[in-house]
Amino acid sequence: TGTKDNGGGGPPMLLLPSGEQQVIVACRIRPMTDEEKLEGAMPIAHKVADDNVVVLLDPEEDHDNALRANRSRERKYVFDVVSDKDADQQEVYASSSKLLLSSVLEGYNATVFAYGATGAGKTYTMLGTENNPGVMYRTLHDLFVEIKKFEGKREYQVTMSYLEIYNELIRDLLAPSSSFLELREDAKGTIQVAGLSEIAAKTPEEVMDMLHKGNRARTQEPTKANKTSSRSHAVLQVNIKQRDINRSHTDQVRFAKLYMIDLAGSERAAQTQNTGKRMMEGAHINRSLLALGNCINALSEKGNTKYVNYRDSKLTRILKDSLGGNSRTLMIAHVSPASIHFEESRNTLNYADRAKYIKTKVRRNVVDVSYHIAQYKQIIQDLRNQVQLL
Ligand code: ADP
Ligand code: MG
Repeated sequence: TGTKDNGGGGPPMLLLPSGEQQVIVACRIRPMTDEEKLEGAMPIAHKVADDNVVVLLDPEEDHDNALRANRSRERKYVFDVVSDKDADQQEVYASSSKLLLSSVLEGYNATVFAYGATGAGKTYTMLGTENNPGVMYRTLHDLFVEIKKFEGKREYQVTMSYLEIYNELIRDLLAPSSSFLELREDAKGTIQVAGLSEIAAKTPEEVMDMLHKGNRARTQEPTKANKTSSRSHAVLQVNIKQRDINRSHTDQVRFAKLYMIDLAGSERAAQTQNTGKRMMEGAHINRSLLALGNCINALSEKGNTKYVNYRDSKLTRILKDSLGGNSRTLMIAHVSPASIHFEESRNTLNYADRAKYIKTKVRRNVVDVSYHIAQYKQIIQDLRNQVQLL
């Protein structure tokens, strides 16, 4: 069951076999960039050594004033996992999406999403560089390794889709020249992206190639705040279907859906002081991220009594299951350590702090094929009997 394996190396986290599951919240503080150093920024976001605590220092607050007013210059945040400049890509992966991999293989849905302001390190964590790949590649790499262990025993089908939400429009990153795609709800209420390409990848190299091609197709336009600001959400969806090939009589089919999402920058459009088209895009980004924030607020409310409006944006419609439904969900909040990004870091940390209180309800996606076959056999028998009666 889901409790036995946390993926190793990670903190002792409860992955319950079924039922209510808290959203796992991780925080990554990236190293200071050369630009930040050149601007004379001071480090204000720290990981407490050997702990899952982030300390954020208010650079504006004068130390003596704070003391007199009995205020603290510091705010402490507790998360499930915290990594800082000393953590490499493999460590961040090992303490995040790797924890969900064994449960995905057991037939549980999972979602990993990167949150944070532009420049905070989301794409570095999720995609990484060709030489030092991130969470998306490492997860798929290990998924293939796991699958190989069952060669000859289990049959696997792994397919992938990669889409972008930009300006509330959905584009297929694996077929960038195709037209915008629409969301549809199937009979069970599951959201589908109509016409989205699904590619069967067999090797980690193919995946790597696909991810980088897809990422180059992402909409990236320069803004005043950031030259390579990304205002789009990139959603990688991996579908895993598996079947035991030896036990034909108790034939179970397991399905799992794994989302890995690189969200657009969470900073406010107003802060970039943009106008015209940029502003409109900003407003749209806010629509998806605002809707996400509203959902997180409603879901983290005690007793979970508030109405959760998933229908407000494309992003929340796609993430409906990941946030309030059948999925083990992990959020990686990203912050810069620099004093010049204090406001953004504080917003991100507050947001992540609320996400801790979200609970999802997980169950394994297992279909007992033999049960269905037995039912069909009965129906056929009944029909035969009826024919003979005629
Ligand atoms: P975002 O996707 O959140 O806008 P990026 O991932 O593009 O931010 O990161 C901004 C810059 O910081 C990039 O140049 C990236 O290479 C660098 N960077 C981000 N995180 C790290 C890290 N953990 N270690 C080293 N460099 C990083
Ligand atoms: Mg990015």
